[in-house]
Amino acid sequence: MANAKGTAFLAFQSLVIKKIGAAADEKIKSQLSADDQKLLFGKPILPIGWVDYGAYTRYMLLADKLFGKGDKQMILDYNSEIARMDTKGIYRIFFLVLTPKAIFGKAAQLWARYYDSGKLSMESIAGSHCELRVVDMPDIPVHHEFANFGYMAEVLRLVGAKNVRTIHPNCMARGDKFCRFDYYWDA
Ligand SMILES: [Zn+2]
Repeated sequence: MANAKGTAFLAFQSLVIKKIGAAADEKIKSQLSADDQKLLFGKPILPIGWVDYGAYTRYMLLADKLFGKGDKQMILDYNSEIARMDTKGIYRIFFLVLTPKAIFGKAAQLWARYYDSGKLSMESIAGSHCELRVVDMPDIPVHHEFANFGYMAEVLRLVGAKNVRTIHPNCMARGDKFCRFDYYWDA
């Protein structure tokens, strides 16, 4: 099964605890299926270790359903905040000189750092539109794109892209051969 880096899940969970409270985390945990509880919390989660990508995504979806509006906006917002935290401090200075094109050029490495399977490629970039694809991850979880888009759109905003829009017209979780991510922005 596909796995995601422990640090990604821990960042989301710690925002839930910080913003809503430890009881919220407990409530989300209690409403996960027994299988997901075991997959996610059956052993200690290390930042450099792996967590089950499906169970991690379903934790985010439950958080959004129980404590957001159920429209996935909370997943987008929290992952945007995680992107801002990841690029804080000294790194921000180096970061700010990058362009959307340079960021997308690093996207394949980012994917490989955060997921243990799937392969990301940049299909095209022209003007203020970029198309990314991920292949070879047949068990990618349904609605995974909200966390991906929340994080990546914020990274783009940090390097000056305005009015970032995203669509996910193809998804392996819906039976397609690949996941397609389209990003549009105002230059
Ligand atoms: Zn997808």
